[in-house]
Amino acid sequence: MLNIKDTRDAMMFVAISSLTAISIACILAVLTYEYFAPLNANANLAHVLFISTVISVPIAVLLAQHNLRISRYQSELETIANTDALTGLHNRRKFISLLPDRESFNGTALVAFVDLDRFKSINDRYGHSVGDEVFRAVAQRLRLHGDRLEAARLGGDEFALLIRNVRRKQDELSRLEALGQAISEPIETSAGLLSVGASIGAACFPEDADTPTALLRAADRAMLRAKARGGGVQRFDPVRDCEADEESAMETTLRRAIRAGQIQPAYQPILEISSGRIIGHEVLARWQGSCLPNDPSPGRFIPIAERIGAIDELFWNLMEQVLTGPAVRRSEGVIAVNVSPNQLQDRTFASRLGALLMRHGVPARRLELEVTETAMFRDMKAAIETLSRVADLGVSVALDDFGTGHSSLSLVRELPLAKLKIDRSFVSSLDWSDHSVKIVSATISLCRALDLTICAEGVESERVLGVLKELGCTFAQGYHIGHPAIVPVPCSARRRRPATSLPRLSEPLPGPA
Ligand code: C2E
Ligand code: CA
Ligand code: CA
Repeated sequence: MLNIKDTRDAMMFVAISSLTAISIACILAVLTYEYFAPLNANANLAHVLFISTVISVPIAVLLAQHNLRISRYQSELETIANTDALTGLHNRRKFISLLPDRESFNGTALVAFVDLDRFKSINDRYGHSVGDEVFRAVAQRLRLHGDRLEAARLGGDEFALLIRNVRRKQDELSRLEALGQAISEPIETSAGLLSVGASIGAACFPEDADTPTALLRAADRAMLRAKARGGGVQRFDPVRDCEADEESAMETTLRRAIRAGQIQPAYQPILEISSGRIIGHEVLARWQGSCLPNDPSPGRFIPIAERIGAIDELFWNLMEQVLTGPAVRRSEGVIAVNVSPNQLQDRTFASRLGALLMRHGVPARRLELEVTETAMFRDMKAAIETLSRVADLGVSVALDDFGTGHSSLSLVRELPLAKLKIDRSFVSSLDWSDHSVKIVSATISLCRALDLTICAEGVESERVLGVLKELGCTFAQGYHIGHPAIVPVPCSARRRRPATSLPRLSEPLPGPA
C-alpha cells in the first residue's frame, strides 16, 4: 500500500509520464501523418489527433508504471536505510537526522535516551529470540506514548525519543516518568512474563545542548546518572554530568599517564613537635599535565586507579621516582607512602618491596607504609600477613586516618603498627571543640600505652599545634607546617616559626568562626 507521500509522488509520476507520452505520441503522429498524407488525400488534423491519442495512452500507462516501480523501490530502500528492522522504529541514522540544530531550528525540543535495565540477563538466560520479543514490546509501548514524539532504537538495548515543541519541560519529564513505568510493566513473551526496567536521561534543546551530537551525548550522560541511581528519569545537569565525562576521560588516560611518569610524588613535611624539626615527608601522588581542564586530585584519581586495576602500577611507578628522588637522596629523613587496600592482599607485595629497596640501596628503616582502617577490613588475615612481612623487612607501618573508619582498638593491637595518624577532622577543630580535645587526648594516651608514636594531620594553625604539644603528640603535619611540594623542604631543618608562646589548654577555647 502506498502512503500519502507515495500517492502524491504517484500523481506526479502519472503527470510527468503522460506529458512525456503525449510528446512522443505527437512526434509519432506528425511522422505518421507526413507518411500517409501523400497516399491519402482525405488525411487531416483530426486523424493526427486520433493517431496521437491511440499511441500516447499505452505509452503513458507503461511509462507511469515503470516510474512508479522505480519510485517504490527507492522509497523502500530509504525506509530500510532509516528503520530498525527488528522494531520498526527509526534507526540511529534517521534519529540523528531528525534532531534539532541551532542553525536550522528555532523552537524547543527534548531528547531522551532510554536504556533498558536487566535486559542483558534476560538475553543471556532466555536467548536472543526472547530478547527480540522484549525489544518489540518496548517499541510498542514507546509508540503508544507517541503524541509529538519520534522514537528510535539506537542499537542494543538503547532507545531514544525526540519530543518537539516542548512547552512545559516538567510535563514532558513527567511523561517520561510515565513512559519508564510503562516499560517496566511485565512483558508477555514465549518464555513467560518478563520485566525490564528503564533508565532515562533527558536533555533540552536549546538550554542543555544545541547540536544533535551534543544533545545525544548530554541525554546519554544524564541516563548514566539515572542508571547509577537504579533507574528513573534524570535531566542533564552540566555540573554533575560533566564530572562523569571527566571521570571517563580519566579512566582512559590514567594508565597512559602512569606509564608516562605524569603521576609524580609531592612531599609534605612531617614535624617532630618537641624538637621543632622536620624529620621526614609523606609522599602524595600528583597528576601533572593531565590534558584535563584541571589536574585531578588524588582524591579523584586514586579511586579510579583502584577501580580500573592500575593502582599497583601507580604505586610501583611512584616508588621508583621516590627512591631515586631528592627526598631520599639528599636527606636522611623518613619517607611515608600510602598503600591501597588491594595491595595488601598481594602475597608478593613485601618481597617486591624488599627487592626494590635493596636495588636502590635505601635502608628499610627509612620507609613507612600508611594504611587505612578500611584497607584492613577487606581480608583481615591477608592484610595482617602482608604487613607482618613488611615489618620484618624493617619498614614501619602507620595506621592512617585514625578515627574515620570503624576504629577498633583490638585491630590496633593485632597489627604490627609503629604509628597512628589522627585524621584531620579531629585535629582541625582542636582549638574550639572540647569534644575533639577529648578524642585526641584519649588517642594519645592509647598510643602511649601501646608504645606507638602519633602524628596529627591537618594542622592549619599555630594554636592547634600548641594544643597538640600540650597533649603530648609526637608528630604533626599540615598546611601550617608545610604544603605538599614537588621539591621537598630539607630534613633536620628547624621550622622558622617554633611552636612557642602556645596557648595553654586551661585557657578558654574560642568558638568556631
Ligand atoms: P591522606 O593520606 O590522608 O593525605 C593527606 C591529605 O590531606 C593530602 O591530600 C594532603 O594534601 C591534605 N592535607 C595535608 N595537610 C592539610 C591541611 O593542613 N589541611 C587540609 N585541609 N588538608 C591537608 P591529597 O594529597 O589530596 O591526598 C588525598 C588522599 O589521597 C590521601 O589522603 C591519600 O589517602 C590518597 N593518596 C594520595 N597519594 C596517594 C598514593 O600515592 N597512593 C595511594 N594509595 N593513595 C594516595
Ligand atoms: Ca596518608
Ligand atoms: Ca591521612
